[in-house]
Amino acid sequence: MAEALLEVRDLTKHFPVRRGIFQRRTGVVRAVDGVSFRLDRGQTLGVVGESGCGKSTVARCVLRLIEPTSGSIHLAGEDITHLDRRKVRPRRRQLQAIFQDPYSALNQRMSAFDIVAEPLRNFDVPIDEATIAELFDRVGLRPEQMHHYPHEFSGGQRQRLVIAKALALRPSLIVCDEPVSALDVSVQAQVINLLTRLQGEFGIAYLFIAHDLAVVEHISHRIAVMYLGEIVELAPKRALFERPAHPYTEALLAAVPVPDPEAARERVLLKGDVPSPISPPSGCRFHTRCPKAFARCTTETPRMKEVAADHLAACHLND
Ligand code: SF4
Repeated sequence: MAEALLEVRDLTKHFPVRRGIFQRRTGVVRAVDGVSFRLDRGQTLGVVGESGCGKSTVARCVLRLIEPTSGSIHLAGEDITHLDRRKVRPRRRQLQAIFQDPYSALNQRMSAFDIVAEPLRNFDVPIDEATIAELFDRVGLRPEQMHHYPHEFSGGQRQRLVIAKALALRPSLIVCDEPVSALDVSVQAQVINLLTRLQGEFGIAYLFIAHDLAVVEHISHRIAVMYLGEIVELAPKRALFERPAHPYTEALLAAVPVPDPEAARERVLLKGDVPSPISPPSGCRFHTRCPKAFARCTTETPRMKEVAADHLAACHLND
């Protein structure tokens, strides 16, 4: 098998919970607990799950914005798990990010030209108007908009500006953390189509975080489903949509709109709220909400197992 562009092994991130005037440590939030996956060049791995499942924490660990508790992160074969800020900087050429809120991601006092040129300046890459105009064109902005300021753009245009900035250094990987969640539905599709086209043109890989499967369906090659800090299913997109092997994936799929009412999926209703990651349920963490839970699920933790080629799931029903 070819070397993965990004390989994450057994990643954990625990945040201490402190209370009282002495800020005594009273527990830990197990935000990410033993997450492993690989992402190949030019491919997209979609990571989905409800709010608080740990997907954005995974993204922040990969971007080296926070320090993992344990596990490893390899980028293009290099272990970047514990690189400090100074050593991470040169890797920013190949590792970029797009976040949810384009408004706060952009410096409101900088012109669009300077925003897109900033990463090039940081790496002493020569800049001219033609280079920046080409980037604007690539992301569907008009070159004359180079001299506008962020408040003069619509929400979708601002996200295009963020994408142009991320693209400037021709990275091999862009971590997209809920990049369309703040946009109108019609604009969401345009931005996803743009990212798909740019992937085809530049061979960029995306780690694409979203809270529902409908958003990642179009862009992903493989999808990881997370629940309460763990990946519970990881599969090629088609296999995951056609033959889900975990009840939580089935529940997420039931929420995806289907254009043909005849083909409407069976409703899977989840009971209750996501439990606290400070004290996750025993056994299978999903057992308190799983419509298919049985006695063994409350005591025994299911491990990720291959249920088909390249298709892993963690559920006792697959034994
Ligand atoms: Fe549901 Fe049990 Fe499977 Fe967990 S192991 S998903 S509780 S059936």
